[in-house]
Amino acid sequence: MKESKVLLLISDGVADRADRSRRFQTPLSVAKKPHIDKLASMSSVGLMYLVEPGVTPGSDVAHLALLGYDPYKYYTGRGALEAIGAGFKMGPSDVAFRSNFSTVDSSKIVQDRRAGRSEMGLDELAEALNEVKLTSVEGIESEFHRTLGHRGVLILKGENLSRMVTDTDPHFEKTRVGVAKSEDDQKSSKKTAAAVNEFTDKSYEALKSHPINLERVKHGFPPANIVLSRGAGTPPPIERLDKKYSLRTTCIAAAPIVRGICDLAGMKIVDVPGATGRPDTNYLAKADATIDAMKASDFVLLHIKAADVAGHDGDFKGKVKVVENLDRVVGRLLKSIDVKRDYFVFTADHATPVAVREHASDPVPLLCAGPDFDRSMITKFSERSASHGNLGTIHGRNLFPILMDRLWRLPKFGF
Ligand code: ZN
Ligand code: ZN
Repeated sequence: MKESKVLLLISDGVADRADRSRRFQTPLSVAKKPHIDKLASMSSVGLMYLVEPGVTPGSDVAHLALLGYDPYKYYTGRGALEAIGAGFKMGPSDVAFRSNFSTVDSSKIVQDRRAGRSEMGLDELAEALNEVKLTSVEGIESEFHRTLGHRGVLILKGENLSRMVTDTDPHFEKTRVGVAKSEDDQKSSKKTAAAVNEFTDKSYEALKSHPINLERVKHGFPPANIVLSRGAGTPPPIERLDKKYSLRTTCIAAAPIVRGICDLAGMKIVDVPGATGRPDTNYLAKADATIDAMKASDFVLLHIKAADVAGHDGDFKGKVKVVENLDRVVGRLLKSIDVKRDYFVFTADHATPVAVREHASDPVPLLCAGPDFDRSMITKFSERSASHGNLGTIHGRNLFPILMDRLWRLPKFGF
């Protein structure tokens, strides 16, 4: 077996869409990025549809595909990935929801979905929510955990639960709190819907007159008087990478969703001080942590969220800046990673075009450097140059098997 290792650097949402209004330029095409361009010239370069043409992937679906899991088979909702990524344990039949502390009036009309984004007293309110006992359905317990800011996760624990339920978060303000409903008319989803509705009602009862909320109002903040939930999910039944490929793997990511998927895939999750998941993240600390992780791993996934944030903000200049910071990361990594022996792959999990301010179905550029990847001789890495690359166009779920094949981890198919 060869001793080569793989580094997969994923710049979330860095791919963009060329359009006439910007003379067909993209952040990748205008940024000054000497290290990435040099790496591209030494790499096989191509395009990748994370799922398939015309399908816009969420980061969760895209990362499942990037680790070789067919998202059509294994995507089981966002809630569980987020809860596990935030460090909370879930059993195989538990259901988790992404939740918000929100503000409603006495008729349960949503006034502020984010409770003014004020964090005042939310830890105490979360404690109060963990006193809630569900009684309408037997054998289901609820757990609520704060994550970042006004956000949290609600986990329903019990047997025969289902993720096939609608949101209680109506997604718009001045709208009544939603009532979760079964999406498939099964007993399990009806039971889960009843439980999440009961939790929502009881969250209002527990929070509406809570001393912390009286205090919040006194300080001019809206009361955080209800929990709204969305994105029900169960843990996907994926096979761990160490079992599947006998691989030692590490994940370096700040985003809970990526950490959750990597955790389920059996990867070691490394915390990096100063890694925030925002454009102000400590880029070089992440590069150093990656170099360190490479010593004891066969495969390291390094995820950097910042480009996606700039894309959602419609901030072209900001996205250019992120690419230039990524270039510093690549420069630092290339001081330690020798592509004559190891593999260095750089790509995105989807496009987040600044003109769209959302994810898009466009293919993303991909480069694969390593001892036995041919050279593209492309001197400027961009969406356009990648479309002329020597790797052609692949699907997201193809990438991991291509890399595992180079590491001699896959048997021959047939005689
Ligand atoms: Zn993403
Ligand atoms: Zn995004």
